[in-house]
Amino acid sequence: MLEVHDLSVRFGGITALDGVGFSVRRGEMVGLIGPNGAGKTTLFNCLTRRYDADAGTVQYEGENLLAVPPHGIAAMGIARTFQNLGLFPHMSVRDNVLVGAHHRGEAGFLTAALRLPRVRREEARLRAETEAVLERLALTGVAEHPAAGLPFGTLKRVELARALVGGPKLLLLDEPVNGLNSGEVEEFSGTLRAIRQEFDVTMVVVEHHMGFVMGICERIVCLNFGRKIAEGPPAEIQRDPGVMQAYLGTA
Ligand code: ATP
Repeated sequence: MLEVHDLSVRFGGITALDGVGFSVRRGEMVGLIGPNGAGKTTLFNCLTRRYDADAGTVQYEGENLLAVPPHGIAAMGIARTFQNLGLFPHMSVRDNVLVGAHHRGEAGFLTAALRLPRVRREEARLRAETEAVLERLALTGVAEHPAAGLPFGTLKRVELARALVGGPKLLLLDEPVNGLNSGEVEEFSGTLRAIRQEFDVTMVVVEHHMGFVMGICERIVCLNFGRKIAEGPPAEIQRDPGVMQAYLGTA
């Protein structure tokens, strides 16, 4: 589904990604780990075309992803969540999720009066889909509530809901369990496993929480200083001396 080859991104004198390559098969859940500043978020920003690559290629479903404009990413079926929740605090949970639907659907772009019937049909479909996702993530009870003031664990689910409406094929999750307590982490893991099946979605997960990422992903890619230093199943990665040295500070 996704093939990243020799990807490099530089910011002035900083090389945030240095010749990174890996691939993701349809249906997989791949973990992306590495110490702070390793380049994980930069990689997501490249895949969603927020940042331009300085070198390398990215093929997504056989297409050159680096030629797709940022506003075309959602239409390709790629959605993401953010490390620092990207929600609108004063908007209701429902509207926050609906914004995600509009972002992916055509309604937001079709404003001409002539196309109004089509916009209305699209709007109805997006609203129905939003309600279904809200219900699936147990958010119907807080749908009218502004995002501000809700517990952090709930906000994480709202962020996930927003990424899920529109039926993405590839979901990029940036630190989905950061800030959650252990019970919440376990619950979120269960939700993600179920969602993956139900929504038939492929996932790449950036996360520092080792228990979570090792428990939920079948393959892990580890970055350090912008380079891939290891790739393999969780059991192998946990034993990898290079990973231990880089990530845990012990060999
Ligand atoms: P963390 O786990 O702390 O989120 P990360 O692995 O996601 O870290 P990145 O945020 O991708 O790491 O950062 C990689 C490097 O690129 C860092 O040195 C960072 O300071 C730098 N960097 C990232 N974005 C920018 C930017 N927009 N401008 C300049 N430097 C940047």
